[in-house]
Amino acid sequence: MAQRQLAWVINDRGCWIVSSHKPEKHGYVRIRRGRKATLAHRMMFEKMNGPIPPGMIIMHICDTPACVNPAHLRLGTQAENVKDRDQKGRLVAKGHPGIRNPWARLDDDKIRIIRRDAQRGIAQRVLAVRFGVNQGQISKIVTGRAWRHIRAVAVQRVREMVGESMLVQ
Ligand SMILES: [Zn+2]
Repeated sequence: MAQRQLAWVINDRGCWIVSSHKPEKHGYVRIRRGRKATLAHRMMFEKMNGPIPPGMIIMHICDTPACVNPAHLRLGTQAENVKDRDQKGRLVAKGHPGIRNPWARLDDDKIRIIRRDAQRGIAQRVLAVRFGVNQGQISKIVTGRAWRHIRAVAVQRVREMVGESMLVQ
């Protein structure tokens, strides 16, 4: 596979959503640099802050796995991560709307990505699989019958942040 630059889309919450590489099922973006595989947000953290200490993990303060904005990343421990998830689990138990609803997982960022990819000719059924919703929902998003409030996406490549070392596969 040819090397390409890591590129992202910046949303109105300041998340840098990777657009050059497809996220995996869990939402994180896996990249390869030479023989080593890593996750895009970990690579970005290390680029800005130096190596991640052994046993530490990188947490997203924005809860957006595909985000690589260094300002949204922080070091944490596995225990902290579990605690964080438990707290969110309790929110669900208290009846906060929609957190468990797959449709609700289509947040503004994903809606933008769906519209952009549809414009680039990616089939709606492919998008439906990727985002875990049915094709009818994708169709509504693409045609603007749903999520009408989301503005068109602004694609930005932040070149000064993307040196040679950011070339990934
Ligand atoms: Zn973010």
